[in-house]
Amino acid sequence: MNMQTDNPNARWRPSALIGASFLLHGAALAAVAIRPAWWPQVLAAIVANHLLLTVCGLVPRSRWLGPNVTRLPAKAAARGEIAITIDDGPDPVVTPAVLYVLDSYKARATFFCIGERALRHPELCREIVRRGHTIENHSQHHRFGFSFMGMGALRRELAQAQETIAGLIGRRPAFFRAPAGLRNPLLDPILAGLGLRLASWTRRGFDTRTSNPDVLVRRLTKGLRAGDILLLHDGNAACLEDGEPAIYQVLPLVLEHVRNAGLHSVTLDEAHR
Ligand SMILES: [Zn+2]
Repeated sequence: MNMQTDNPNARWRPSALIGASFLLHGAALAAVAIRPAWWPQVLAAIVANHLLLTVCGLVPRSRWLGPNVTRLPAKAAARGEIAITIDDGPDPVVTPAVLYVLDSYKARATFFCIGERALRHPELCREIVRRGHTIENHSQHHRFGFSFMGMGALRRELAQAQETIAGLIGRRPAFFRAPAGLRNPLLDPILAGLGLRLASWTRRGFDTRTSNPDVLVRRLTKGLRAGDILLLHDGNAACLEDGEPAIYQVLPLVLEHVRNAGLHSVTLDEAHR
């Protein structure tokens, strides 16, 4: 499998915080070289900087570590578009039911699939695309420790999923969503190299943890407006009291709300055209 997916033309531009962190490290080295006795203060400054970077990586919608799509572009909002994004699939039972609901509302969605799951269900991936939806990159394995990975492991997670998904559907993902939305400062240059844009969301219901459909629908629709990006799960979803995944009940209610608000759901890709 060809893993040479890096785009040599893509230039990484560090965010202001990352740029300032580089400068701080340079200044720290210089300070210790000139005045070795300052090392405790210099060390404290470096530790504080790393703590700040870590905290920024734990806030899924933050832009401090690099660009992050949290809403659709203004032109998409002006068209009355929202985006429903569905993570952690494909799932051989849940995803087909989700596709049926989306069809019945003529809604298109973006599936952030896990590479290894996509590999297990190639026909389902092709069916997602046949129905007008898109599949984007949610890493190859959805590792618990994703935000602690080094550069090589992160690059492998993203590049493998790019290859997997491109191999299955013939289209290379344009967006990446970090597992649980958590990341570290090393991710941004890798995204740039692979030509991927980080995408989080405007609102989520926490449907991997909450099993009350009313609460989930309220979180996803209260104050809903054009340009919002919604997050749901077809994989790893919490089950309601009847044992069914939350998305079965929640998605139709959300789509009903979207329709009544005069909005319509498109793919992230479509919204960025
Ligand atoms: Zn996920």
